[in-house]
Amino acid sequence: MDFVSTRSGTRADVAAALTRGLAPDGGLYVPSSLPRFEPGDFDGLESLTAIGRRLLAPFFDGSPLATGLDAVCAETFVFPIPLLRLEAVAEPVSVLELFHGPTAAFKDVGARFLAASLQRLEGEPGGQDGGGARDESADPLNGRGPAADPGGRPLTILVATSGDTGGAVAAAFHERPGIEVVVLFPLGRVSPRQQHQLTCWGGNVASFGVRGSFDDCQRMVKQAFTDPELGGRWRFSSANSINVGRLLPQSVYYASASLEHWRASGATTSFVVPTGNLGNGLACVLARAMGLPIGDIVFATNANRTLPDYLATGVYEARDSIATLASAMDVGDPSNLERLRKLFGEADALGDQVTAMSVSDREIERRIAQDAGRLDRVWCPHSATAMHVYDTLPIAVRSDRHWAVVATAHPAKFDTVVEPLIESLGGSAVGRHLEPPPALAALLERPARYVEIEPTLDAFAAALAARRAADG
Ligand SMILES: *Cc1c(COP(=O)(O)O)cnc(C)c1O
Repeated sequence: MDFVSTRSGTRADVAAALTRGLAPDGGLYVPSSLPRFEPGDFDGLESLTAIGRRLLAPFFDGSPLATGLDAVCAETFVFPIPLLRLEAVAEPVSVLELFHGPTAAFKDVGARFLAASLQRLEGEPGGQDGGGARDESADPLNGRGPAADPGGRPLTILVATSGDTGGAVAAAFHERPGIEVVVLFPLGRVSPRQQHQLTCWGGNVASFGVRGSFDDCQRMVKQAFTDPELGGRWRFSSANSINVGRLLPQSVYYASASLEHWRASGATTSFVVPTGNLGNGLACVLARAMGLPIGDIVFATNANRTLPDYLATGVYEARDSIATLASAMDVGDPSNLERLRKLFGEADALGDQVTAMSVSDREIERRIAQDAGRLDRVWCPHSATAMHVYDTLPIAVRSDRHWAVVATAHPAKFDTVVEPLIESLGGSAVGRHLEPPPALAALLERPARYVEIEPTLDAFAAALAARRAADG
């Protein structure tokens, strides 16, 4: 299947869309058409991997990745994504927990899928251990794509991160042959646990702590991409959230969760999705457009209200982002809105498809404290926005259909925000200390290392050169 740019409509196959990330005209790639499924098309398919293969096959049809899609899905969906009924609530509501991956946030899904795909497009066999470990590699090519760079330069993935993305991307690419990752993060502006996840890798992952802001990090990455001298020595790519290789696999967990409920009851599931750049939310809309049994879709934003205001007024106004407790959603100009508008139309038409509500920091705090007691469940600040929006829906709407509140990160990842809020509960059944889940705990045990640099392209280029010299 072809992908088209949201701007000029130029086309690319899935392999080119994955490798480029952004279209040459600065637009985002969207599928030229969407496959249509019925729930029955997934009969007999239980696992995320099996459902993912069926759902995503049409997008990879005819591409060099088609034969590798099975293995790519198998390498992506290695952790559970459970749909758990909230028994303490009288109305039919569940939580879709997306945080059981290596870095305890939903971005692990997209990052792993993109890494597994790019590795094959680079001509390397599958697996994170250098390949050869997979049983189903009877096909000698094992889904290999076109040969890598004729000059033999490895692909270097540049990631500027304000927190969650860099860790997920580093974890997903760590120990993949033929690909390097360089993470730039703003020193002192990410949480201690986030910083550890950005700097504990080594091997093919380099971490640069920039004496500046996230915007400085982003600017340095953009400059590196367009600098002719660096471009001659390095082959850069990006793994930011607008890559279709991160978007498509996120539809799989919406398919799987909605099918699970459909099979048990014959009814749809409606979702409340915490939203920043709208990648996760768009994946839900795509799953419904492909025929999965999904009812309403409601987006929960933090105090950054660009999206709810656009849907309410029809006027799009990008803003500077405001810092909130749900920091991974601090987005004033959500990039994936360009895709939603291209696929489903402007505010009027879009309003028939989705709704959006903004949640304040005060409401996030109250929600976390209240539900720790009421539901014996601790939300991360992002997931708390979704639960809050669910709770403000009219009671009739909450009673007559099944809802799933999407939990995007484990609360222990944001312990500095969450722990003080639940401490005040005193004798509650919920402990004061948030235990990190096993995968996150294992990461926190690893030694951390990073190189500190000034926020300039020269300093960045020098650090890259030093790293290559050290690699010999
Ligand atoms: C990135 C992130 C979000 C926002 O997801 P988008 O796809 O940008 O809307 C929400 N919650 C957490 C924990 C995140 O890391």
